[in-house]
Amino acid sequence: MQTFDFDLFVIGGGSGGVRAARMAAQRGARVALAEVAAMGGTCVNVGCIPKKLYSYAAHYAESFEESHGFGWAGEAPVFNWEVLKTNRAKEITRLNGIYQGLLASAGATIITGWATLVDGHTVKVDEKTFTAKNILIATGGTPTVPAVTGREHIVTSDQMFDLAPFPKRLLVVGGGYIACEFASIFNGLGAEVIQVHRGEKLLTGFDDDVRSFVAVEMARSGVRLQFGAEVAAIGKAADGLTVEIKGGAAAFAVDAVLYATGRVPNTSGLGLESAGVKLNAKGAIEVNSHYQSSLPSVYALGDVTARLQLTPVALGEAMVVVDHLLGAAAGKKPRSMSYEFVPTAVFTHPNVGTVGYSEADARKEFGQVTVFRADFKALKHTLSGSGERTLMKLLVDDATDRVVGLHMVGPDAGEIVQGFAVAMKAGATKAVFDSTIGIHPTVAEEFVTMREPVKAAPASKA
Ligand SMILES: Cc1cc2nc3c(=O)[nH]c(=O)nc-3n(C[C@H](O)[C@H](O)[C@H](O)COP(=O)(O)OP(=O)(O)OC[C@H]3O[C@@H](n4cnc5c(N)ncnc54)[C@H](O)[C@@H]3O)c2cc1C
Repeated sequence: MQTFDFDLFVIGGGSGGVRAARMAAQRGARVALAEVAAMGGTCVNVGCIPKKLYSYAAHYAESFEESHGFGWAGEAPVFNWEVLKTNRAKEITRLNGIYQGLLASAGATIITGWATLVDGHTVKVDEKTFTAKNILIATGGTPTVPAVTGREHIVTSDQMFDLAPFPKRLLVVGGGYIACEFASIFNGLGAEVIQVHRGEKLLTGFDDDVRSFVAVEMARSGVRLQFGAEVAAIGKAADGLTVEIKGGAAAFAVDAVLYATGRVPNTSGLGLESAGVKLNAKGAIEVNSHYQSSLPSVYALGDVTARLQLTPVALGEAMVVVDHLLGAAAGKKPRSMSYEFVPTAVFTHPNVGTVGYSEADARKEFGQVTVFRADFKALKHTLSGSGERTLMKLLVDDATDRVVGLHMVGPDAGEIVQGFAVAMKAGATKAVFDSTIGIHPTVAEEFVTMREPVKAAPASKA
């Protein structure tokens, strides 16, 4: 029988890789994990966590403004970018250590360096070679920037957390969630923000009402949105950068340009093709429902497979892989991962929270759908002086009465939608929503008090 150095060799110490390595080691497998950079991957170092910390920071500006109507007075506090950066960096270093510690205490071997695949059972890290019964690739993704004149002057989301100095004038290119979040965050922190998007609406893939509503609210909060606009060139100026827009009359003078125009899977320089691992048209690793690649001993999950690129999805996939590889020994039945009703939030100001189908997708999937929609000024803003409005929307499949879409643009939308996602996963019907007592006075109670549909369902399945 062939013997290996390890049962499982994980390449990439991000959300998915760390979870898989830790779970497998806890089940007694001999596990190694190779990571070339800081432990924790995108989410911990340049994604979810620092982004959310900065979003908290940005919200203090509006909270201070809004406090006046509640009787608070005094000089406006002054924001210190250096303090925020330093405190964030300390917290991220703490988290890097926690991830390292979790792996070590589970018994996994941590190997520092760039790993490449030699064959289905062999990994090379720098000059050392290791063998494993199974290999898991969890190398994540990377921002991608189109070829544009002056590309050397731009930054991507990876650099946004440590910009020096603070960009007083920021131009954000893109309309996806990362572009919208950074536009909102830097606007809240005090920058003048222009967001340039070649499409006509933000947040492709989200419900159309949400897409329109969030743009109105972001603009209300101060972000200057330019739709149907593409950057022609970026050039150096005496005091910053100039950004020319295709067909535009004037150029924008800014201090920094963020391109948040998409991410690509980290599949190059890994030796994948020569080892026999197939990539799809997007350059992502092709996997089956068990996350097994075209090379049967090699598995892949998370952003490198370019499916739903979210940390909790990578974590969920990691646990499915570990159950698949080691479940029998732990008495676990093999299972597959469901991608239906995955909730998600966009940390714009105000937040977006969503679970289930958009109205357009629900109509395609179910045909007859009833829509409930509320658009209102929250109680807090009766005194805050803010004009911010909240959108809440439910989509109900007429045939079953099941709530198949739930969308919100408003404060803490992510926190609110997480709870409703459980109900929707459990198949809650509109009748169950209606029979649920609200918590008064909250914004969330609106989801259980919507009685009047706003649109009649169309006659036939699209
Ligand atoms: C700005 C931003 C904000 C985000 N916000 C959210 C959010 O709010 N909520 C959410 O759910 N998701 C968010 N995400 C997405 C989330 O970060 C990713 O979906 C998640 O990190 C994917 O995990 P992963 O394990 O697939 O890869 P990653 O976390 O990217 O980890 C991959 C790791 O592999 C390492 N690596 C790559 N190649 C090699 C190699 N050859 N050898 C050794 N190591 C290697 C990398 O250094 C990295 O540490 C955000 C992403 C970004 C960019």
